[in-house]
Amino acid sequence: MKKGWSVCQGLFVAGALLAGCNGQPSQAPPDRVFTNGRIWTGDARLPEVQAMATLGDRIVAIGPTESIRALASGATEMIDLAGRRVVPGFNDAHWHLPTRRTADLVDAGNVKEIQRRLREFAATLGPDEWITGRGWGPSDFPDNQAHRRYLDEVFPDRPVLLTDRDGHQTLANSRALALAAVTRVTRDPENGRIDRDAAGEPTGLLKESASSLVRRLIPALTADQVYRALLAEMDKAASFGLTSLQVASGSGASGIEYEAYQRALREGTLKVRFRVAVPFEREVTPARLTEFAALRDRHRGGLLTYGIAKGMLDGTVDAHTAAMLEPYAERTDTGLPMWTQGDLNRVVTAYDKAGLQVQLHAIGDRAIRMALDAFEQAAKDNGTTGRRHRVEHIEVPALADLPRFKALGVIASTQAMFASPDAITLTNYAPALGPGRASHSNAFKLFDDAGAVQAFGSDYPVFTMEVMRGVHAAVTRELPEGTPAGGWYPQHRISVAAAVQHFTKDAAFASFDEADKGTLEVGKLADFVVLSDDIFAMSPARLHGVKVVMTVMGGQRVFQR
Ligand SMILES: [Zn+2]
Repeated sequence: MKKGWSVCQGLFVAGALLAGCNGQPSQAPPDRVFTNGRIWTGDARLPEVQAMATLGDRIVAIGPTESIRALASGATEMIDLAGRRVVPGFNDAHWHLPTRRTADLVDAGNVKEIQRRLREFAATLGPDEWITGRGWGPSDFPDNQAHRRYLDEVFPDRPVLLTDRDGHQTLANSRALALAAVTRVTRDPENGRIDRDAAGEPTGLLKESASSLVRRLIPALTADQVYRALLAEMDKAASFGLTSLQVASGSGASGIEYEAYQRALREGTLKVRFRVAVPFEREVTPARLTEFAALRDRHRGGLLTYGIAKGMLDGTVDAHTAAMLEPYAERTDTGLPMWTQGDLNRVVTAYDKAGLQVQLHAIGDRAIRMALDAFEQAAKDNGTTGRRHRVEHIEVPALADLPRFKALGVIASTQAMFASPDAITLTNYAPALGPGRASHSNAFKLFDDAGAVQAFGSDYPVFTMEVMRGVHAAVTRELPEGTPAGGWYPQHRISVAAAVQHFTKDAAFASFDEADKGTLEVGKLADFVVLSDDIFAMSPARLHGVKVVMTVMGGQRVFQR
């Protein structure tokens, strides 16, 4: 609560704007009054109220319906919440902007279905265009082994490149490999691997940086295509109750995505608040760091902000590229760390010294430890505190490292849908780890129990950005159809309230926005969501079906069902 706000008998009002509790007429009546709701504020001092008044983009009063209604003038718009559940606006702490129209292969399940979807998508393209898709998993293929032959069967002459669900490996057909001149003699690039069969021929599977050998041939998008993709994604986000998105692509400083966000800010079309990460560069110079800090300082309006840098330390479990302390189950390899500890410490320390927050993708226990070690070293070398550096994903932490998040003030940035026990998780992911490590992977309760600040995201488009699907996954650890019975390692389930807090208050803390966002309090931004059902009083098994009825961002209705 900020200075100038007053409290009286369960009614919170902005003292500077409204006369308040003494019955005096208000000086500046609210624009809107929302009454008869079941409002979960996230604020422990006043956790549940019925009504809110907003003026401009802020909440100016909160309390019982009768008291709040009394603040209205003739010009105030009255909105009856009809007893519905209201929560603070959702904040996705790890999101990406998908810019290219591509075949959706999520949950295809088998080769026949992948081929069917690709044919359908190809029919919408010009005859010479590249066929791209995303969302496949190893378990879609016989023996969990993706191979170019399945694509050659349908497309012998047109180039095809399919990105997997996690975005860390691609499958190219023979035509695409030929165009890129990838053959048995092509060497693996740095931080990448060209998968080969027993005879040494490329299988078409390209891991990590090897994907760019083919991907760089796909024609670039235009600035207008990216801008239109941004507009469409904002509509989608608002329909899921998202009022803030934290973009984890490291694309924030320049280029076609940077232009799209800047244009949206200029043209007043932002209907979601964005915080966009800048790159975490191995050879970063002092001038570059100054440029990143200046970008942050120029954008203080709350709709588009900067100030964080995104780096990658390893790959994924499904591709066996996440960096592990011990080999993958029944294998000898331990993944693909992208940094040496020395280099990482040097670069993290440079960003930290420049006052920038750092977020590091680290999935395997080795990479997670490297991230924590680098953050610890930077704080020591620079004498800094409160930087709120973040580890992204943290899927398979060593249990001994869990207390370090709280001790070092490092944010645990996890993704709710990663606990969803789908076919890829059960038949490829968990077996790759083996039961010991699988039993504590994506175990959000462990971070809560260790006292860490845990911010939830989606990693969209890796998974859906539909927040209630994520809440359902974190709370039940089951699929919507109720499998596996009893949940996947159900000891790691968390409560609905904890899941909502991770998607609101904790996500706001992760971006230094706790004074403005994350809870519904007088003086904070009027960002909130009206839901179809009371998520705190229903069977968790049905949470995935809860719909957003209305989304309010900065006092404005940006979505209404
Ligand atoms: Zn991501």
